[in-house]
Amino acid sequence: MGQTSIGAVVLAGGKGTRMNSQVQKQYLTLAGKPLILHSLEVFEQSQVDKIVLVVGQGEKPWVDREILGPNGFRKISAVAEGGRERYHSVYAGLQALQGCDYVLIHDGARPLVTEEIISRAIQGALNYQACVVGMPVKDTIKKADPDGFAEESLDRRCLWQIQTPQAFSYSLIRTAYDWIMEKEERQAGITDDAMAVESYGQCGVKLVKGSYENLKVTTPEDMVIAEALLKKRDSLERR
Ligand code: C5P
Repeated sequence: MGQTSIGAVVLAGGKGTRMNSQVQKQYLTLAGKPLILHSLEVFEQSQVDKIVLVVGQGEKPWVDREILGPNGFRKISAVAEGGRERYHSVYAGLQALQGCDYVLIHDGARPLVTEEIISRAIQGALNYQACVVGMPVKDTIKKADPDGFAEESLDRRCLWQIQTPQAFSYSLIRTAYDWIMEKEERQAGITDDAMAVESYGQCGVKLVKGSYENLKVTTPEDMVIAEALLKKRDSLERR
C-alpha cells in the first residue's frame, strides 16, 4: 500500500442482549474459540496496518489477559473502552486510532469476514472516500404502519442489506463523527457509519459486495449458522 496507512476499528463493546446469554456474545465460543477472535485474526492477516479493538466499560483488563494475551497479535495498537450506543464505541475507536489515512470499521460480531471482503472495502475507500459492504436483499421488504399492517412494498431491485466493514478516509469519517457527537439530536437512529457520513452530507457512500455469509451474530440461531459456515470453510481449506 506504499505510504498510505490503513487502520481498523473492531467493535466488541455491545451488550448483546438479544443473545439471552450470561456471557456477552463476542466472547461466546464459536468453532472452538471466542467469537471476537475470528474477525481479529482475519484483520491481523489483512492489508490493514493497525487495529484498535473497542470493548465494553471495565472489560479491558480481562480482554488483555484472556483474549489478547494468549494470541500474540502484532497489529493491535490499542484497546479502547466503548460507550452506551454503537456510535459512542466507534467514536472512542476513532479517537484511539491516530495517524491513519483510511479506516475500516467492523462489527466484531461478524466473524465470517474475509481478507477478500476487507480488500474490496479498502479499494472502495481509496476510490470513493466512503464505502460500505453489503448484499442485495433476497426477500421482499415491506414497510409496516404502527398497527402492523403493510403500508408499502419497497422495490427490492434497489435494496441492499448493509454489513461491515465500512471503510472511509479517516478525515471524512472523523469530521462526520465530530459533527454528530456535538449535538444529541444528530445522533438519533445512527446505527452504522455510512449513516454518519450520509447525515453529514459531504460525500456519497459507495456500496460494494460483501457476502451472504458475512452475517452478524445477533440471536442464538445465528451462532448455529455461523458455526456451520466456519466448519464448511475449514473443511474446504483442508482439502
Ligand atoms: O448491537 P449490534 O449487533 O448492532 O452491534 C454491532 C457491533 O457493535 C457489535 O460488534 C457490538 O459489539 C458493537 N457495539 C459496540 N458498542 C455498543 C453497541 C454495539 O461496540 N454500545
